[in-house]
Amino acid sequence: MEILNEIKFKMPSLSVNEAAARAVVSSFLIQADPTVEELSDIRTAVSEAVTNAVVHGYRHKKGDIELTVRLLPEREVYIRIKDKGCGIADIEQAMEPLFTTAPEEERSGLGFSVMQSFMDRLKVKSAPEKGTTVTMRKRLSEHGV
Ligand code: ATP
Ligand code: MG
Repeated sequence: MEILNEIKFKMPSLSVNEAAARAVVSSFLIQADPTVEELSDIRTAVSEAVTNAVVHGYRHKKGDIELTVRLLPEREVYIRIKDKGCGIADIEQAMEPLFTTAPEEERSGLGFSVMQSFMDRLKVKSAPEKGTTVTMRKRLSEHGV
């Protein structure tokens, strides 16, 4: 993978860091001049993944979440969100729309569906007790570039 630019951001699993992660991604991606809609889609996808790490991965424990943002050739944005939390036993099932393990917390089970529809590619790697890594890619349009 040819990486044109990259940042890494490490944060504890506090829900205030969902906003921090969105802000970090936005400020880094300004250099690629995304459209308002592209940036909004990416911010939403990042937010869903970080929220999942906080509420599911670490539950009420504390742990680190690592966010990596890369700019690749051809205006491709690569994003990775990694936690070392409880992991997911059945990834396929977890990714189904409306599947949630926390219905009592008013979760709707749509986080992965949102990531899938707002990004071009979504990959989830996970193992119970080891943690979860979500990688996503989105190609930015060439508008006026
Ligand atoms: P919503 O995102 O709509 O609030 P949700 O978080 O339950 O609800 P998804 O984001 O689609 O829905 O996630 C589906 C399920 O996958 C979760 O209920 C949880 O069981 C599991 N999951 C997702 N991310 C993680 C993670 N980082 N660590 C452990 N389990 C996860
Ligand atoms: Mg979710």
